[in-house]
Amino acid sequence: MSSNSNPNSDARLSGLYQELILDHYRRPRNKGALASATNSASLRNPLCGDEVEVQVEMRDGHVADVKFSGRGCSISQASASMMTELVKGLAPEEVHALGERFAAMIRGDATAASDEVLGQARALSGVSRFPTRVRCAMIAWEAMARAAAEPAP
Ligand code: ZN
Repeated sequence: MSSNSNPNSDARLSGLYQELILDHYRRPRNKGALASATNSASLRNPLCGDEVEVQVEMRDGHVADVKFSGRGCSISQASASMMTELVKGLAPEEVHALGERFAAMIRGDATAASDEVLGQARALSGVSRFPTRVRCAMIAWEAMARAAAEPAP
């Protein structure tokens, strides 16, 4: 039994977030090649050695499907996995707006960190305390914004 009569909810939340990040890192969602891809973009983060490629199928001006591939630290890969779960069905401008919201959270915006539109990606809000890891969290979102903005062939 815990002797702590005043549990620290921040610590509990941060533990939960840590588990979510590791879960996405170990069991990435939407990872692999997308045979129906119309657009793609890849980005590297040389500071950490992260690589993320995003493949997107744009149909009728929306993201019909998305997959990513890559390698790197748990933050970069978990961020890519979480991102792919949020962007399906969105138009390019919505992908861009969501990416901006995510970027605000990663820069420490507390309002963005509690915004439900960011779904499980909110688990990465703690990255704002580690400026050297910001690129790790951002590259998947930047690659996605680029891929979605590219005119489909
Ligand atoms: Zn990294």
